Amino acid sequence: MRRVRLALAALWLTGLVLGSISERSIATSRSVPSTSSGKIYDGFQVLSADLHVHSFPGDGALPPWALASEARRRGLDIIALTNHNQMLSWTLTNWFASRSQGVLLLPGEEVTTPKFHMGAVGVQRTVGWDRSARTVAAAVHAAGGVAIAAHPDNEAARAIDGAFADIDGVESAHPVRHVNDKSSRELDASVARALAEHPGIAQIGSSDFHYLAPIGLCRTYIFARDMTIRSVLEAIHAGRTVACDGRGRTYGDPHLALAVGEACRAAATAKPNLHGQLNRIAVLCAWLGAFGLTLAGPRRAIE
Ligand SMILES: [Zn+2]
Ligand SMILES: [Zn+2]
Repeated sequence: MRRVRLALAALWLTGLVLGSISERSIATSRSVPSTSSGKIYDGFQVLSADLHVHSFPGDGALPPWALASEARRRGLDIIALTNHNQMLSWTLTNWFASRSQGVLLLPGEEVTTPKFHMGAVGVQRTVGWDRSARTVAAAVHAAGGVAIAAHPDNEAARAIDGAFADIDGVESAHPVRHVNDKSSRELDASVARALAEHPGIAQIGSSDFHYLAPIGLCRTYIFARDMTIRSVLEAIHAGRTVACDGRGRTYGDPHLALAVGEACRAAATAKPNLHGQLNRIAVLCAWLGAFGLTLAGPRRAIE
């Protein structure tokens, strides 16, 4: 047992060392040029966001400050921390800073119910999960946030049906779109349902980052008055967004989509670079080591 724990500790340490090396390289490299940030369209600032990111502590591998660093490298201006039914990592982030390395961090959670998942972005507190879609959306608004139907498949779309008018956004671009044709068609059908009920609904692109997939794989371009939490939430509520998937396709208002089409294609075709790969290997090592040590347990360690 002692040997196993030593191996796990070594794995964890390797992750930390590799992570530090790659972090240093990352400080001077970007895999995706920040083509969106600073761009003005029709009086609005065009911001690039990933509004569905899981973080540590919780169900993601990276703590918020490492996510901010990775976001910057991936040409993102904004990320929202959306762990399943809890906001612990946001609470910790708030002790440090809500803006890290020029990246705006938004509070949030992924309200996770048996039938559907709902992104709650900008909320100041968690909301109950054992409720209908309409009640969850109302609770999200009361908590100061916007509600986004997360990766809605057929079952989720059926559960939300009738409540899309109360929901601010729908994830038109999500990694499930790239799994196979069937999941892509299901997502298309759910988005069509959302648009039929709520024509101005914000189309959202998110990576749903947990451990390895690059954040910003799918992303959202937000047309906001400025780069503040308040303006970003206002823009989502008003539907001034364009979703961008991992193949460089855009979803949303055609005029707005035209303004960010090139940036979306550039983000999708950006080659994964060595630093990014090293960083992900580091994350995997650190995560496996930490997970193994947790399973091995501190009590067993002193036996
Ligand atoms: Zn989910
Ligand atoms: Zn998620």
